[in-house]
Amino acid sequence: MAEKKARLSTIYEYDPEKGTIRLKNKKCPRCNSIMAHHEKPIPRWACGSCGFTDYERKKA
Ligand SMILES: [Zn+2]
Repeated sequence: MAEKKARLSTIYEYDPEKGTIRLKNKKCPRCNSIMAHHEKPIPRWACGSCGFTDYERKKA
């Protein structure tokens, strides 16, 4: 279990084997900006630049 103190880990993913950090966030299909992930009230990706929202789908 990862500790919750590292909030950046929700955005960045640290790879201890390679010693690299990479961005987990998706890029906006409209304007190519980095999108922010929000869990509530509905899990979704939102673009702060153009307002594009991509709702996550749950696999059945
Ligand atoms: Zn956008």
